[in-house]
Amino acid sequence: MKGQFVDCENVYKTTTFTKTLSLDEFMKNYVDIPKFEIYCSLCKNYNKSWECPPHRIDVEKYWKQFDKIKIIAVKLDFTDDFRSKSYTSDELNYIIKNTLYVERSKLKKTLINLEDELDGKYLYGGRCDICEKCAKRTDEPCRFPDLMRYSVESIGSNIQKLTPDIFDFSLKWIEKDMKIPEYLVNVCAVLY
Ligand code: SF4
Repeated sequence: MKGQFVDCENVYKTTTFTKTLSLDEFMKNYVDIPKFEIYCSLCKNYNKSWECPPHRIDVEKYWKQFDKIKIIAVKLDFTDDFRSKSYTSDELNYIIKNTLYVERSKLKKTLINLEDELDGKYLYGGRCDICEKCAKRTDEPCRFPDLMRYSVESIGSNIQKLTPDIFDFSLKWIEKDMKIPEYLVNVCAVLY
């Protein structure tokens, strides 16, 4: 698409934060399944991906298979110069794909290794990206049910509340000024 390319080389540095909590503590303070099902139902992508609500699984039972949660946040701090400009919607989509999603893919490798090490299951940060177009969109079964993982938020986690409590920073988003904020964060986890 014309005007879409933005140079995303050397425009951010990453810092990784981790914290392990007991599942009881996490669920008590940061999980509200019904509330997040309502939030998800308002999303334009609702019911378009198998890892998002409405779930086929009993979400409460899913959580209760595990004792602990290791939360991993990768924070991308953008340079002042990069954040000083306003971008078009296409450019912002391009930037997200080439910064936040690149780091999320790298994080996925760490999550898969941690699953092995801890004998757990990881929770991803956002929609499942295994297939280009999720099979749910065409009303077909998930193509890779053994590989697919739920996103942290889609099973009721309040990440917005969690991050300032355990990592001392709040989540930020792209605002109406169409600028990149000071930082963006990928939040994932491993249940074990
Ligand atoms: S593996 Fe494919 S079909 Fe299954 S949830 Fe992920 S994107 Fe959808």
